[in-house]
Amino acid sequence: MNRNQVLPQVQLSADPNTLRRVDFCAPQSYQGAGFLSISELPRLAEEVSNLVSGDGFHWNVETHFEESPGSEARQILELGLKGCLHLVCQRCLQDCTVDLDEKRRFVLVSSEFEADDYPLEDDEQEPLVASQQFNLLETIEDEVLLSIPLIPKHPERFCEPHASVFGGEEGKEVSGERQNPFNILKNMKKN
Ligand SMILES: [Zn+2]
Repeated sequence: MNRNQVLPQVQLSADPNTLRRVDFCAPQSYQGAGFLSISELPRLAEEVSNLVSGDGFHWNVETHFEESPGSEARQILELGLKGCLHLVCQRCLQDCTVDLDEKRRFVLVSSEFEADDYPLEDDEQEPLVASQQFNLLETIEDEVLLSIPLIPKHPERFCEPHASVFGGEEGKEVSGERQNPFNILKNMKKN
């Protein structure tokens, strides 16, 4: 029996507050889409160099249950992200637009223990611990943070012309003031 055919499909609200509490333990599947501006993603807002109107991310989410032989059906969550934000170009130190277009696939597991046990070599999907009040907004923000380039740069030859004023040491100093992207990831993993 295909579980998807009998389970009700619930429309996810695009309201960020509703996205903070999604019941992934309920016997139902979800679909939804919306747009999140940078200001609705506080950790991301700290990373951007400039808040340009229109910056943000269209997201879409779909869940379904997948039969797996010999065990319970697994709940799969697919997340699409498309949008842009502004970061400091590490070559010319001016704002540059960073476009993201990402697709992620997750499998919902029932405990932290199960998530830790999940095979690392599975690069198709990652585990997420399901709960009745799952913070999907946080997951969307995590994925945007993980997708932004560690060293953002304009495309080759598209740097701001006066970039050459910042040569050598001075350039290094200015870029050093920005938070190291590796730290961003480290802090994220702690949460
Ligand atoms: Zn540049």
